[in-house]
Amino acid sequence: MQDGTTTGTQEKPRQAVVIGAGIAGLLATRVLAEYYEQVLVVERDALPVAPQPRAGTPQSHHLHRVLPRGKMILERLFPGFLDGLLEHGAFSLEHTKSLLIAKDGRTALSAPNATGKDASCSRALLEWEIRQRVQALAGVRFLSHQDVIGLVASSDRKRIAGICVREHGQLAERTTIAADLIVDASGRSSKLTHWLQELGFHLPEDEQVHSAIGYSTRYYQFPADAHHEWSNALKPFSQSDGVAFSLLEDHTCAVIIGNIGGHYPPTDAAAFEQRLTVAIGSYLPSLLQDAQPLDDPRGYRIPVCVRHHFEQMEDWPNGLLVMGDAFCNFDPIYGQGMSVAAIEAETLARCLHEQQSYPQPGFERHVLQRMQEAIAPAWWLSSVSDLNAPGVTYTGSSPLRGVRLIQLYLDLYLKYGPVHDRELIQKGMQGQTHMLKNFLMNGLLISPREVINARVLATLLAVEEASAERQLLAELLQGYPQRFEAILDEIIPDFSRSFEGLQAFAQEEEVSVSQ
Ligand SMILES: Cc1cc2nc3c(=O)[nH]c(=O)nc-3n(C[C@H](O)[C@H](O)[C@H](O)COP(=O)(O)OP(=O)(O)OC[C@H]3O[C@@H](n4cnc5c(N)ncnc54)[C@H](O)[C@@H]3O)c2cc1C
Repeated sequence: MQDGTTTGTQEKPRQAVVIGAGIAGLLATRVLAEYYEQVLVVERDALPVAPQPRAGTPQSHHLHRVLPRGKMILERLFPGFLDGLLEHGAFSLEHTKSLLIAKDGRTALSAPNATGKDASCSRALLEWEIRQRVQALAGVRFLSHQDVIGLVASSDRKRIAGICVREHGQLAERTTIAADLIVDASGRSSKLTHWLQELGFHLPEDEQVHSAIGYSTRYYQFPADAHHEWSNALKPFSQSDGVAFSLLEDHTCAVIIGNIGGHYPPTDAAAFEQRLTVAIGSYLPSLLQDAQPLDDPRGYRIPVCVRHHFEQMEDWPNGLLVMGDAFCNFDPIYGQGMSVAAIEAETLARCLHEQQSYPQPGFERHVLQRMQEAIAPAWWLSSVSDLNAPGVTYTGSSPLRGVRLIQLYLDLYLKYGPVHDRELIQKGMQGQTHMLKNFLMNGLLISPREVINARVLATLLAVEEASAERQLLAELLQGYPQRFEAILDEIIPDFSRSFEGLQAFAQEEEVSVSQ
């Protein structure tokens, strides 16, 4: 959208180009199709006609879950989306239960999933379902098997006016494609920083969490009539392996062993099964009853998670945006990436709508600033959690503060919150329980400050057996002279604008979320 040139009565700008047909690219396309005459999606892969993993998204072999906020946005962008997934074979989560296994691998909390409709499926099916719907939109075209290899800038570098492409795998011929707006959604492997530097831009320092994450995933097949006590199970990693189990389409399930700090789980089948037994042995007979392995475990390693700060560039060029993993990528164990991409798409829609009504200069940089506000809670939650693991380090212009204190608080919350919850449930206050709030916070539906505050801390410490934690907390707080709430104001970023879109949206509709 050209700065200050488009009003509600003017015609749509002609062409937007989206680089990458992953989740972020598809969601951006869905939004842009309402504002541009044509949207061209340029993708490196030849896109499969059926739901299949593909080379350009190597992570798609691994389990991908969508957080509650992401589900709400998908349903809004594509009405009937959940029904579509179920029609195409996704596992129905209605009347099923989830299992949260404690870090010791023995104790667990079993809870029913939400009463409403919900589904679980592979990343390949999820992406395919979105792609089918985007391909059907008026004005949208896909140019596949093409590598974007650079940006074309105006002579004064104030505008990005096009992209340079060549056929995937060919080194010779290249062509340029002109566009009014280009959105880079090419994922973790994005070359955007390189392209901008080539054009002479100076980049602000990014933030990096050197987590050295390792995944190992194995698929299993169940008989068609298998009975399942739980549809999902999760054991968070601590000093030991984390495990995630999820039932998927076609009577299959995926099991991940995940770890951090360079403790990579094995991809050898026998070693994988052994590590699984150590991690969640007592639950395996129920989870994998009658299941047969479909393949050998496959690994994935992520040395570092990166949050770029393009929004800080005062000379950010017009005609260019960036979304999804190319802007900020997370430790996947928290399942945030696709939902954050959905929040960014919704942010883009809001900005385009405002720009149409009240055109302002510097539109693209403004969009990046708004997206960055939306990214903030997810980045903070996953970084704080990762940084508590030995060997994980952070680099960036403003170090994360109070990591140990926040982790102790969250440990307290999970340990003593359920003690209060029994009382709250007896009083009919299910909507106020600690476990629900924890779920909503990690689902990016409420601000971390609704869970982490002085009032809640007081109730947690009121539990009699909390004396050891009280002592530890007192020791940690010695480093801070202020009151607890003031300390939190200092160490937790200001998320006051991060949930703006959600409030407006929540008034419009209600979509069920699974717990
Ligand atoms: C192991 C693992 C597990 C994960 N699990 C979860 C999860 O449970 N939940 C969750 O929400 N997120 C998860 N994620 C993150 C998730 O995959 C991404 O955040 C999400 O898919 C959004 O990514 P994206 O669309 O920005 O990029 P991608 O999905 O990576 O898509 C980028 C697209 O751009 C194309 N492309 C790249 N370069 C070019 C180029 N030069 N020219 C043309 N095309 C190009 C690629 O082929 C690809 O199609 C996981 C990630 C990993 C690594």
